[in-house]
Amino acid sequence: MMRDVKLILLGAPGAGKGTQAEIISKNYAIPAISTGAIIRAAIKNGTEMGKAAREYTDRGALVPDSVVIGIIKERLAEPDCAGGFILDGFPRTVPQAQALDEMGVEITDVISIEVPDESILERMGGRRVCKACGATYHVKYNPSPLGDRCACGEALTIRADDDPEVVKSRLVTYHEQTEPLKEYYSAKGKLKIVIGQEKLEDTTALVSAALDA
Ligand SMILES: [Zn+2]
Repeated sequence: MMRDVKLILLGAPGAGKGTQAEIISKNYAIPAISTGAIIRAAIKNGTEMGKAAREYTDRGALVPDSVVIGIIKERLAEPDCAGGFILDGFPRTVPQAQALDEMGVEITDVISIEVPDESILERMGGRRVCKACGATYHVKYNPSPLGDRCACGEALTIRADDDPEVVKSRLVTYHEQTEPLKEYYSAKGKLKIVIGQEKLEDTTALVSAALDA
């Protein structure tokens, strides 16, 4: 019988966490909970915590931990989380992890998907998008037949999130604020490390093996 999986996925931006979350979600039939998405949903649905979050987002401020944690709590109380869940993008800091513990949320597994910064910079920095037709390319791995133009003829652009300076600064934040969670969960005997592979399916196989171990 398949056990309940209550998983936290850790990994730098661009390490492929979101993609793996989707795959595990399908394989284990448990929801993948992305913090950004549930905050937007709570605001849209006007839940108690959604209303609290709105007071911050309306003025362009960051939603504070206390409210984010409240929204996570609301989401985890929904029936589809009873048999397990995947948290993607939360906790991001040790205080958030402590808050999760204080909330009584039991986590069974923490998987850190590790990809060297240089690889992330190469992957993200090489991405190109077409604003006209939505096609995506990579200068090295999936180049457009027309070079710096899309197959449709439009000039290709770099998304703001893929700008190397933006990626670098997000990596610094990850190493400083989120990576200490590895030690936090390792001390609880829950941490498993997966080395991100070049091929998506190879990483997926390692993640599955880590969950079955
Ligand atoms: Zn195009």
